[in-house]
Amino acid sequence: MVAIKSVGVVGAGQMGSGIAHVAALGGYDVLLHDVSADRIEAGIASIEKAMARQVSRGQIDQATMDAGLARIHAAPELQSIGAVDIAIESATEDEETKKTIFKALTPHLSDTTLLASNTSSISITRLASTTDRPERFIGLHFMNPVPRMQLVEIIRGIATDAATYEIAVDFTRSLGKTTANAEDFPAFVVNRILVPMINEAVYTLYEGVGTVDAIDTAMRLGANHPMGPLELGDFIGLDTILSIMNVLYDGLADSKYRPCPLLTKYVEAGWLGRKTGRGFYDYRGEHPVPTR
Ligand code: NAD
Repeated sequence: MVAIKSVGVVGAGQMGSGIAHVAALGGYDVLLHDVSADRIEAGIASIEKAMARQVSRGQIDQATMDAGLARIHAAPELQSIGAVDIAIESATEDEETKKTIFKALTPHLSDTTLLASNTSSISITRLASTTDRPERFIGLHFMNPVPRMQLVEIIRGIATDAATYEIAVDFTRSLGKTTANAEDFPAFVVNRILVPMINEAVYTLYEGVGTVDAIDTAMRLGANHPMGPLELGDFIGLDTILSIMNVLYDGLADSKYRPCPLLTKYVEAGWLGRKTGRGFYDYRGEHPVPTR
């Protein structure tokens, strides 16, 4: 088994950029791929902004930031990701999208490349089965925002071998993260618990039990959560929340996981939360304003 030196990240959205960010500061060479050069550039710009914030807070110095940024390279062609030691897929939370990426990537992989997915909910075993190396495939579920959050959930598929698991744990710890193991069942541990709570908050809004402001204030001050559940849903992305609820609903065949129709409506409107400027709050002005 190879020691990890280079990392490929597929998907340069909020999570893929965050993973590229911590990998580069961890001393790894990083290739970042997305569907277009513009998206990759936007991802790299967001990393630069996030690192500059770390410099201004005294968490890293300017030389560390410069060296980190210099390790990140745009990879407009997916096949160039095939040469890395570990390729981490962090594209949109949609099973077909992820399977298409892994199928397209597989013929270009070097013999020793490990594959990982940052999926929040989708079966690692199923994703692994679309590749030629299910034994060298693992779930690495980073938390958002990646540079700030301590945890990475590690999910072994049915075929993941012990060496892959050990390398993945060592790699994750080398980024300064703490690992927790989860079995390969829908949404693993964190999102099995967290996302139904957010969905329930949307039901609470839908049924008129409370306003956006009342629900978030109640959970911040009443349950001591750092963010209210609707604010958190907007932060994660309402498309991702809906997709995870559907994975839970389909995978566990239990009606308690049905997505709230109001959540579906927000996603259909393209009001996906912070990343599109509007969700349960409108972020386009100076301060977020509730949309209901
Ligand atoms: P995002 O919408 O910010 O980014 C997704 C990116 O994937 C976009 O830039 C999109 O262009 C890209 N993409 C889509 N199809 C692609 C393809 N075929 N090839 C390459 N790139 C493609 O979403 P995100 O929040 O970064 O989520 C990405 C993954 O991380 C999802 O699997 C999600 O479940 C997971 N995740 C999200 C969070 C969170 O809080 N948002 C937390 C942990 C894990």
